[in-house]
Amino acid sequence: MRIDVFTLFPQVFQPYLETSILHRAIKRQLVEINLHNIRDWTTDRHHVTDDVPYGGGGGMIMKPEPIFAAIEGVLGPKPNCPVVLLTPQGRLLDQSTAYELSAQPQLALLSGRYEGVDERVRQHLVSDEISIGDYVLSGGELPSLVLIDAIVRLLPGALGDPKGALDDSHASGLLEYPHYTRPAEFRGWEVPEILSSGDHARVARWRREQALLRTYFRRPDLLDMAELSEEDRKFLEKITQDEAAQDPTADRGD
Ligand code: SAM
Repeated sequence: MRIDVFTLFPQVFQPYLETSILHRAIKRQLVEINLHNIRDWTTDRHHVTDDVPYGGGGGMIMKPEPIFAAIEGVLGPKPNCPVVLLTPQGRLLDQSTAYELSAQPQLALLSGRYEGVDERVRQHLVSDEISIGDYVLSGGELPSLVLIDAIVRLLPGALGDPKGALDDSHASGLLEYPHYTRPAEFRGWEVPEILSSGDHARVARWRREQALLRTYFRRPDLLDMAELSEEDRKFLEKITQDEAAQDPTADRGD
C-alpha cells in the first residue's frame, strides 16, 4: 500500500512513523508513506499557503493553488486513488471505514490547518472526507496519523500476532474482553481462575461472554450490528432478564 500525506507540518509525522508497528510495517514494505510539504509547492517569494477569508471573519484559510499543485504534482492531474480530506465535517472514522480504506492500494491524505481549506479544494480535488470524532483539533496531522495507524495495523503482516486484530474492540462489532498478565495476584486482586485452567474452550467461552457483557453495559448500541451466534443471543437474553440485579444504574421503578 502507498499513502501520500499532504501537510504543512511533515515533521509532526516522523517520530510516530518511526515507532513500533508503523515503523515495522514500513520496514517490511507493507506500506510506503510519503510526506509532502504543501509549502514546497508555493511559487511566491514568501511561500504563502494561507489567506484571509472572503466575507470577513476571523482566522485564515488554506489557499487552493499550493494544495492543487502539490497533489496534482505528485499524483498527476487526475489522481487515480482516493484523495481524503481530514475534516471534522467528514464521515466518522470507525473500524469498518478503516477496513474499507485498508483495502485500497493507494491513498492520499490532506491535513488542513487554520480554519480549513478553500472550499474549491473540497469540491474539485478531494474525493472523500473523514472525521476522527465530533470535536475540533488545530490541524489535520493527528487525524491523518490516527487514520494511518488504524489502516496500517490491518494490513496482513503488520501485527506480530496475525490474529491480534480479530478480537480487538469493534472488529466483530463487540468490545474486547478484559486482559490480565502476571502476577497472578496483585495487591490481593486475583486473575480469574479460568484463565489459568488450560481449558481453551472454557477460556474462549469466558472471553466471549465478557465481551458480550462489556458491550451490553457500555455500548448496547453496538449489539444491533454485531455478529451474534445463537449461544450469544441466549446469553444476552439471560443478562437482560437479570439486568436490574446486575446493573447498578438500572431504574427498577420502585
Ligand atoms: N473551521 C473548521 C470547521 O469548523 O469545520 C475546523 C478547522 S480545524 C481548526 C483545522 C483542521 O484540523 C481541519 O481543516 C482538519 O484538517 C483538522 N481537523 C480538526 N478536527 C478534526 C477532526 N475531528 N477530524 C478530522 N480532521 C480534523
